[in-house]
Order: sequence, then structure tokens, then C-alpha cells
Amino acid sequence: GSARTVQPTIALPPVPAATEAGTLVEVLDWHVAQHPDRLHLTVLQDDTTALGAMTYAELAESARAVAAGLIRRNVEPGDRVALMLPTSLDFFSAFFGILYAGAVPVPIYPPMRLSQIEDHLRRQAGILSNAGARILVTMQEGMGPAALLRGQVESLNSVENVASLSTEPTATQLPPVTDDRSTALIQYTSGSTGDPKGVVLSHANLLANVRAMGAVMEASSADVFVSWLPLYHDMGLIGAWLGCLHFGAPLYAMSPLSFLVRPESWLWAMHRFRATLSASPNFGFEFCLNKTDDAVLEGLDLSSLRMVANGAEPVSVQTLRRFIERFEHHGFKPGAMAPVYGLAENTVGLAFPPPGRSPIIDRVDRTALTGRGAAVPAGPDNPKPLEIVACGHPLPGHEVRIVDGAGYELGERQEGRLEFRGPSATSGYFENDAKTRELFRDGWLDSGDRAYVASGDVYITGRVKDIIIRAGRHIYPQEIEEAVAGIPGVRKGGVVVFGATDQSTGTERVVVVAETRETDEPARAELQKRAHEVATDIAGTPPDDMVLAPPRAVPKTSSGKIRRSAAKELYESGTIGAPQRSLWWQVLRL
Ligand code: ATP
Repeated sequence: GSARTVQPTIALPPVPAATEAGTLVEVLDWHVAQHPDRLHLTVLQDDTTALGAMTYAELAESARAVAAGLIRRNVEPGDRVALMLPTSLDFFSAFFGILYAGAVPVPIYPPMRLSQIEDHLRRQAGILSNAGARILVTMQEGMGPAALLRGQVESLNSVENVASLSTEPTATQLPPVTDDRSTALIQYTSGSTGDPKGVVLSHANLLANVRAMGAVMEASSADVFVSWLPLYHDMGLIGAWLGCLHFGAPLYAMSPLSFLVRPESWLWAMHRFRATLSASPNFGFEFCLNKTDDAVLEGLDLSSLRMVANGAEPVSVQTLRRFIERFEHHGFKPGAMAPVYGLAENTVGLAFPPPGRSPIIDRVDRTALTGRGAAVPAGPDNPKPLEIVACGHPLPGHEVRIVDGAGYELGERQEGRLEFRGPSATSGYFENDAKTRELFRDGWLDSGDRAYVASGDVYITGRVKDIIIRAGRHIYPQEIEEAVAGIPGVRKGGVVVFGATDQSTGTERVVVVAETRETDEPARAELQKRAHEVATDIAGTPPDDMVLAPPRAVPKTSSGKIRRSAAKELYESGTIGAPQRSLWWQVLRL
């Protein structure tokens, strides 16, 4: 459709949530039966311009058309259909079209440019091959890259333009989708610690998670969600969209590109549509802080927000403080900032704070935590405590426990591996028995994260794979990264710290790579010295190597997370320093 100025919706009458539904298909059908003409989705170009909107009936109808097109192309129940679309009404129609056809959607992220596309294609080809996808649905601009993918993925026998799929007549008989244990989605993790893995999620998993998060958030049809999150990632797809779908709340979705180009468009969209809920990884809040001038925020009112989830990557204490301090002037309530914890293996959310609670920051003794995993509260005169953010309590019906290396459960304030179980937990990784076996232990799932629990709150200290062990002490890379990124001249988000294996001694060497635009030699030497000092101060031991690199050298995932293991591989192969960032990021010149 063509862009038009969109008016904020007059509050919609309250409706109940689809509590009886067992599958996503039943959720949508239930809304269509109850209130077909109620507004469900609005796709925004920016805060004032809509690219299109859909009611429940319109979504169901366009999805049926896609389903009919897929069935005519011999898609059968259980087949995997890859979805490579940007944020658009087509995405939602295609997603439900795949479900209506009884098939399994596999969202992957759309490429942005044909140049330097190899890395993107390699990753996507790996995903599609693992998923055994038969059909790839995309839009006109995606047809070129999709054709290249087709050459690399054996199972892929057709590439379809969503526009031509959905103009098909809809009379086709659709298979009934009634089994809540059937697979509703394969969510590929973005691979910040390795190759992407396909997390298998059933309708029951998705609905259990959406309902549990909603229960904590006290979500209802009176809520309004404004999102810029990508739809190929769990937080945007499940946390934002499917949550809204279940509760009958309207969703206003803009593309991540719109947000990254003009972060204030997210803020202004929340203002304009009186958003009550939203979510973002920590870097999105940083973006708002660093890329918006006060002048563009004049008149901004964020007082309608009840809860903005901050999760999917480590939550920075500094970001929380700075965001609250700056946006309190715009009516933002400190209690609306909600640090949350989750992972694709638990659908998306695992721990949430109660609504309205201001962030809790735990100050613990550094030596006790890094040396023996004891989160001992720091006294008032502790010179350099570690500050760790509380990510709330496990969702209702879900359990979390902390275990040591041998699998024994640890007590309050003892740090170890976080394990979980409950109705949102995946049955495993698609076609990956080895990784699936590693995931499960004695009926629990391993999160791959280290954490401790205090007064019911979960505190994440880092990812098992990223933590560097040095002389029996734990070094948390993100803490060093943040500190070094704070040095003037170093690019924000452009620092990576990892442990490289010393081939001769077998121990881990601490390596810091920092991006800078500085080219003047004396200034670079000064920057290097400063970064070395800051890293030494935090780690308690000097880094073994301190590399200055040009912008975009630090590899990141499509969702913006630092890929420490990829950085380590580049470093060990002697190629760190070349631009690496995924296309999505390159386009934005971050
Ligand atoms: P992969 O697992 O392949 O590396 P990924 O990181 O994208 O990919 P996701 O399931 O999308 O996988 O992300 C989940 C991970 O994000 C968690 O295991 C955790 O490491 C991190 N994370 C999420 N929320 C938080 C949080 N509040 N604090 C710290 N880390 C978090």
C-alpha cells in the first residue's frame, strides 16, 4: 500500500484474550470470530506515516491466500518454509499463511545490499540447509539473493515472491492445525557464540510463553505495543507480535532500519500512539541516548509507558541510569524500565521483574565473585564493586536453578550455570542431535549462561563461553568492553574482549580489540595506552594484546550482538582489523 499519515487509534473497546486457543491458528481464528474488524497491526514507516494496517479478518484473509498459494505449490504439513521479508504487512500474512498451510515458518533476515553479500549468504544457506527448507518466500528485492541461495541449498526447490503468492484465489481446502504439540516455528539463534542452531518451538511453547509474560506484565487488550524490533528475531516476533495477537492489543511495528536511522522515531511513535508496552535490547536505549539531540525531543511525552523490556543481551547499569535520568524529563517512569532475561531455547522470556518496579542493581565484592563465585554484597567502602542488574523472577510455571560444574545445585548468591525447565522450553534443536543432547541434563536445560539468584531475582554474570578464566579468576568481557568503549576516540559498541588460546602454554590470553577512526600516530599511541590502563584496572591483570582496529572490525550478529568467538577466530587467523560487520550494520555505517 502507499504511505499515509496515520492518526492514533481512539481507544479500542476491551476484549478478552484468546485463553482457550491451543494453537496460533486458533488464536487468530478466535479473534476473527469475536471481533473481525478490530485493528490488529499497523506497519509504520516512521512515527507519523503508516505503510499499512490490518484487522484480524484482513490478516486471516491475506494469510489464507498465501496458504492456498503454498498448497498449490505442493507444500505439505510439516514442511519448512523460509521467510525472508522485512517488516511489512506481507511478513505477517506470510507467517500465518505458512501456519494455515500446516507448514513451519523459518524466519531469516533479509539482505540489504548485493555487494559483500557472501557472509550473509553463507549463514543463511547454513540455516536453510539445516532446516531442509523447500520454499523460500521473499519480496521483489529479495529475489536476486534468494536465487543465489537456491544454488547453495539442495532442499530449496522454489523461491516465491510473496506478492504473487498472495494474489492466488483462496478457495483451497486448508489442513486443520489442531495439535498444540506440532512445531509452530523454528527460531534460529543469531549465533553470537557459534553457528546458528534451530530452536524447535511448538504452538504450546509459544502460547505458554506469551501467556506467562503477559500474566507478569498484566497485559490486556487495553495495552498498545510500539516496536522497532526485527521480526526475524524472537523478541520482536514472539515478545511483541504474538503477545499482542494473543491479548488483542494493537501493535505498531516499524522496521529496525527506520529506528537505527532515526532513533527518535521509536520514541515519537510511543508518544503518538500512547504506547503502554515496548521492548529493546540494551543497545537500542544507548542509541536513543547517543543519537538524539534534545531539540528533537522537545514536547516528547513517554508517560503512557508501563513497561519497556530491556533484554536479549547484557543490560548495562550505565545505560539504565542514563536512560532513566534523561527521559524522566519526558514523563518516563523509572519503574517502566524492565531488565528481563530470556533465550530462544525458552521461546523468548524466562525471567521478568514485577511491573512498575524500578531497576534493582546489586553491588557485589569483585574478588569474591570473580575468584570463588560468591556474590557477596559489597560494603559501602568497597572501592571497586561489581554492579549487576536484577532481571526479575522466573516466569510463573517456569523454574530456574543454578548448578556447579558437576551439576550440583547451588544456593542463594552462589554463581554457576543457569538451568531452566517449564512449558516454554524447547524440545531441542532441529536436526542437531549432538547439540540437543548437550542442551539437556537430568530433565533441565542448560542456558549456557552464568548467573546467581538473590531474593528470587536472577542476576546474569555472563555467557559460559565468553567468560575468560585467568589464573583461576573469572574475567567478564562485557565489563571491559563497556569501560574501554567509554574512552573518547573509541567507537561505542566497537570493542570486543575475548580469550585467545596460547598454543605454547594452553592458557587463555586476554585480547582487547577497539575500533577507532583515529589515524594520527601519536594520538593512536595515546589511545592504546589509555585502553590498556582501563582494561588492566577492570580485569586486575593487563591484557595480553591490545589491538586498535578501523570501524566495523568487530563482528556482530544480525541482532547486534558482539560475536566474541568469531572475533577470536579472526584474531587467531591474523585477519582481525578488516571490516566484518553484517550488512545490516554496514548499511547503517555504525
Ligand atoms: P547463540 O545462542 O547462537 O549465540 P543468541 O545469543 O542470539 O545466539 P538468543 O537466544 O537470541 O541467542 O539470546 C539469548 C542469550 O542472550 C542468552 O543466553 C544470554 O546470554 C543473552 N541475554 C539475554 N538476556 C540477557 C540479560 N538480561 N542479561 C544478560 N544476557 C542476556
